[in-house]
Amino acid sequence: MNERWMRRLMVSLGGVLAVGVAMAGLGAKAPAADRPGQASQAKILILTGNEYPGNKWRETAPLLSKFLAQDARLKTAVQDNPDFLASPELHEYDALVLNYMNWESPDPGESARANLKRFVENGKGLVLVHFACGAFQGWAEFQNIAGRIWNPKLRGHDPHGKFTVEIVAEDHPITRGLKSFETVDELYTCLDGQKDIQVLAKATSKVDGKDYPMAFVNHYGRGRVFHCVLGHDVQALSTPAVQELYRRGVAWAAGLAPVPQSGRAP
Ligand SMILES: [Zn+2]
Repeated sequence: MNERWMRRLMVSLGGVLAVGVAMAGLGAKAPAADRPGQASQAKILILTGNEYPGNKWRETAPLLSKFLAQDARLKTAVQDNPDFLASPELHEYDALVLNYMNWESPDPGESARANLKRFVENGKGLVLVHFACGAFQGWAEFQNIAGRIWNPKLRGHDPHGKFTVEIVAEDHPITRGLKSFETVDELYTCLDGQKDIQVLAKATSKVDGKDYPMAFVNHYGRGRVFHCVLGHDVQALSTPAVQELYRRGVAWAAGLAPVPQSGRAP
């Protein structure tokens, strides 16, 4: 080995070591989304504690936590203080589930918004449940993160009732193998935005005959966003196919395979 080559090797080794030391110093851990197929479980935080009074987070958050945890890889926790969004501890989680809507109060402020943006941008997962699409009104960047947001100038939703949710992305890992299903819920008709999203499921309005996205995915920085407008109340979140859609969407956003390996051939 000649001397010049040796020196070059030492320089590149030094670089690798420096990065390793810096990451260890920060306590940094590659997000699960950066380790596809390697992570065996993910820490999921359900953030709630504030919602439009018509949506009852005290009933829906525990139910979300319960049915998400039916996928044993998803380690769920519920946080009912929205100020937690500003905490550095947020970054200990692999995915954040927003069961949150600050309809009648300000959002938790600039540092919370910046922290949430950083969380997703840096490769973590974000899941929006039902009316979370209406949170952070006035924060322009939320539209790019969420993919679509509630526009209060548009017609909000069909009257609460039964409708069919049609799976339109049969080749996406979240919806692969899922069948279209009936549910009793609010069919949202007021999502707005230009971001290039991939729609996974849609429903047709009984009021105007148009199709509206019910579940879709978005990418923001290195992060994955699963956005689903289903789930107005306990009844809507009790539809088995809605639970399955959320379980898969949360696992995907957190960087896991949407369906746990059964260990058996399908
Ligand atoms: Zn609702």
